[in-house]
Amino acid sequence: MAQELLKKGWLQSVIMQIAPHIYLITDIFVNLYLLVEDDGLTLIDTGISKDGRKVLNQIAQLSRAPQDLKRVLLTHCDRDHVGGVESLKVTTGAHVYANPIEAQAMAEGHSSREMHRDTLTGRLISLVSSFMKFPPASADEVLHDGMVLPILGGLRVLATPGHTPGHMSFYASSLGVLFSGDSIVSQNGLLQISARANTWDEAQARESARTEAALGARIVCAGHGPVVMNAGTKFPKF
Ligand SMILES: [Zn+2]
Repeated sequence: MAQELLKKGWLQSVIMQIAPHIYLITDIFVNLYLLVEDDGLTLIDTGISKDGRKVLNQIAQLSRAPQDLKRVLLTHCDRDHVGGVESLKVTTGAHVYANPIEAQAMAEGHSSREMHRDTLTGRLISLVSSFMKFPPASADEVLHDGMVLPILGGLRVLATPGHTPGHMSFYASSLGVLFSGDSIVSQNGLLQISARANTWDEAQARESARTEAALGARIVCAGHGPVVMNAGTKFPKF
């Protein structure tokens, strides 16, 4: 089975340039984004791998050193997004940025909310999650709504609760690129909020998606699914 998946490329990490300075790294079914600038690299989410090896391999492919990774920005504390945080901190010395709610959960080694167990998918995710433990890790810097980080000419931090209580997104206004984490996911060329099974609060998720749609992003880099170009008309409508 693993051999078949390997042949199809599913277990391999891929790196692909999306826009100037922005690279997509895939970790099986999760998307990570590497922002590459002369003064250092920034990673958005760390994927499933506990050792961060895929990220380090891709950094090497870009002829950069592990220590060039200066920041790790986290959208939320689900196992598929924070797997390699601790390992990457140790290897690279990068500072980890997270919302306080998500940071607390990460320090305790669990997600920041329960799945909805009244759905089959919710029960399945809970079961799979119990096998996908991640090493607890601490955040170094707190993310809050309205911050602007000195990345890509000014990376706006947006509170986008719904999928999880402390979910954060990032908007590079100079490039029109939104990093939506799981607040908006990409499926069949369209953008939508996450499934009820793993959504903490659907009303807040819809409100966050409305906020994100209003940004005028041209490109949406979501936590799952293909990157969506010409995103203007593809946001969910509520
Ligand atoms: Zn996810």
